[in-house]
Amino acid sequence: MPRPIAATIHTAALHHNLQRVRQSVPDAKVWAVVKANAYGHGIERVFEGLRGADGFALLDLAEAERVRHLGWRGPILLLEGVFEPRDLELCSRLGLWHAVHCDEQIDMLAAHKTQVPHRVFLKMNSGMNRLGFTPARYRAAWARLGALPQVDEISVMTHFSDADSPRGIGHQIEAFNAATQDLPGERSVSNSAATLRHHTDARLRSDWVRAGIVLYGSAPDFPENSPAHWQVQPTMTLSTRLLAVQHLQPGDTVGYGSRFRATEPLTIGIAACGYADGYPRHCDTGTPVLVGGVRTQLVGRVSMDMVTVDLTPVLAAGVAAGFGTEVTLWGRASTGAILPIDDVAQAAGTVGYELMCALAQRVPVVVEGAA
Ligand SMILES: *Cc1c(COP(=O)(O)O)cnc(C)c1O
Repeated sequence: MPRPIAATIHTAALHHNLQRVRQSVPDAKVWAVVKANAYGHGIERVFEGLRGADGFALLDLAEAERVRHLGWRGPILLLEGVFEPRDLELCSRLGLWHAVHCDEQIDMLAAHKTQVPHRVFLKMNSGMNRLGFTPARYRAAWARLGALPQVDEISVMTHFSDADSPRGIGHQIEAFNAATQDLPGERSVSNSAATLRHHTDARLRSDWVRAGIVLYGSAPDFPENSPAHWQVQPTMTLSTRLLAVQHLQPGDTVGYGSRFRATEPLTIGIAACGYADGYPRHCDTGTPVLVGGVRTQLVGRVSMDMVTVDLTPVLAAGVAAGFGTEVTLWGRASTGAILPIDDVAQAAGTVGYELMCALAQRVPVVVEGAA
């Protein structure tokens, strides 16, 4: 029998979360952002749940090929554009739309031979200071692109640094609007956080929202708001089973470095999941976990292949007849109980994004609800 660990991808939850985005912005088209192998879920595994989107956005050309290979004939957007001249050949061949964020990318386009002009998204650096033309240089870039026979329609785009937090979008959207007001073409501005939190802001017009994390059931502004607040559902469950039970006496310690010491008699369970599965080693005593659907906590350090959990609230748990009680590291237990990935990420000092993306290769993945 293989190790009992598995990740489950919930197709119905992906579909639900996409509908949730549509509710927020009924007039916008939705890019389903599937970069980083669909935030660790697997592009092929989320395709069924997200095929109701208007397009797929990603960064990696090989991932774009995979989306086309799935039979998707609609829009695909390269969020960082091309990296070298020959990437443009793939764009022409597969009909990929691409961001343009720097002069070098315009140079490459100008030298590119193509029968079909490309649809491009000209990116403004409105304050994030990663990619894009500054507001002062934006219109010159627009004019240069517009004069190229290789270019079809130009859309305008920018990306928010603080849509999830108190600073908000004001400083960026003002700059963006001022520089793009009279430019034709579609606008793509909002990420998940802006889509959920700022869709009623009159300054924000996004013909194409770029929804990432919200589709995967994590709250972009956790802990201020939870996934339950935004009515999104977990799309990835990481679950395993108990391998053993230990009965500790006061003074007994648990795991490497004896990080946990029992002060009273304590029953703990040993579960088959460790940092080599993508479970963060930064989690320690106190990190929430579900055993048999009951919320309890980790005790002691995460090791490569195992974690240790407090069984106090669920003393019936065990390994009877070689079949250990279900342990849910994040996502949905068989009982229906939910442990948001955000709660676990917080305990590890990170965000849900990182945990999803770090799911290890060795974990078998099951797609629930696939056609
Ligand atoms: C990743 C990404 C998004 C999606 O961000 P979320 O916070 O996951 O919604 C949107 N736009 C760009 C340019 C991105 O790189």
